[in-house]
Amino acid sequence: MLRYWCSFRWIFLILAATLCLGSAPVRALGAPLEAKTVITDMRVGLHGKKTRFVFVLTKQTPFDVFTLANPYRVVIDLPEVGWRLPARPLPQRTGLLSKLRYGLFKQGVSRVVLDINGPAAIDAAFMLDPSNREGHRIVIDLAKTSRQAFLRNMRGNTVRVVTSTPGGAGAIQVPRARVAAAPQPSLAPSLAPPRKPRRPGPRRVIAIDPGHGGVDPGATGASGIHEKHINLIAAREIKRKLEATGRFRVVMTRKSDVFIRLRDRVAIARNASAELFISIHADAIKNRSTRGLSVYTLSERASDKEAAALAEKENKADLIAGINLNGESAEVTNILIELAQRETMNQSALFASTLVKRLRRQAKVLRKSHRFAGFAVLKAPDIPSVLLELGFLSNRNEERALRSRKYRAKLFTALTYAVKDYFTDVEQASRR
Ligand SMILES: [Zn+2]
Repeated sequence: MLRYWCSFRWIFLILAATLCLGSAPVRALGAPLEAKTVITDMRVGLHGKKTRFVFVLTKQTPFDVFTLANPYRVVIDLPEVGWRLPARPLPQRTGLLSKLRYGLFKQGVSRVVLDINGPAAIDAAFMLDPSNREGHRIVIDLAKTSRQAFLRNMRGNTVRVVTSTPGGAGAIQVPRARVAAAPQPSLAPSLAPPRKPRRPGPRRVIAIDPGHGGVDPGATGASGIHEKHINLIAAREIKRKLEATGRFRVVMTRKSDVFIRLRDRVAIARNASAELFISIHADAIKNRSTRGLSVYTLSERASDKEAAALAEKENKADLIAGINLNGESAEVTNILIELAQRETMNQSALFASTLVKRLRRQAKVLRKSHRFAGFAVLKAPDIPSVLLELGFLSNRNEERALRSRKYRAKLFTALTYAVKDYFTDVEQASRR
């Protein structure tokens, strides 16, 4: 896992830890270091339809700026800088900006993350030399764009600005250099075209994805049990049951208590040519009386606020560990892939309803038991995918039930039937 923590393009390391520090002292270790650049102000304002960010700094400093999706963000990377900001709140909720965060990203790299409220394009990024009023400045203009255009521009969207504009203060310059995004790790599902339909083999491959793991424990139950453990136990039992039918082979996205990036989970399923992806989770919420299981599939828009909030929570796994979710989006840059995904979404919905039908006979399911939300882990463009929330660990009874092997056996027998039903449907449809 360590290499992920070092892999620059994919990570926003433990920003949180450094966020609250208004200023970080310049280190003075050993030989005198070249004086570090210090950021002395950060401002945001509206310029016509553009949202403009201005960073005031003590020296001319090259920077990279790029966008990320899910959630939409703009990231500005600088060499390690110091912070000596005015004693006022950080800019927020202006134009496209909802929140601004900053801090040390890794040794040698400082990062500013702009959480933005919709898809945006980097309209301009440039540096200005000092004027009589102010020091060196970095200026970044963001303009609203469509989601489609945003996703199309995801690859190679890093803008590198190395020197200030010759035009001096006020000059606006479209980025002069576009550098390609870092190559994606081989596991990445990213830009491979949709696979050809598989011929039905003797044993269909099902990917079972135990949610969370390692540094990411997931939800915490009423008795203190961590979701990641429940998910793993469940996944192992599901594997056993599915394979006992002789019709399926199961590949697990993790077999131990280890952190796996969401996009790598998808990649594992794809590499194994899985025909169905089932992500296993359990939720916890404030209201301890809520219980029941539910099945989620992907949609562009979450079907309700709760579903959206849950997706946000589950997707945070990667954000917590500081992962660039770009891959998820790079994957859908290609319109062909998007089309494949639409088809896949229909298949996912078919399996979800089959699953709910089967589970309903064995356990309490939420009133709206099949819901839609933007889960990152469900974004394989060509593998029907669902996310099963086994229930609420925050509910004492449901947590106890989920800890019982007997209860789980009931659920997973139902799930096994649902998988069989689904493939029977698929096979019949392909014969028609
Ligand atoms: Zn979860």
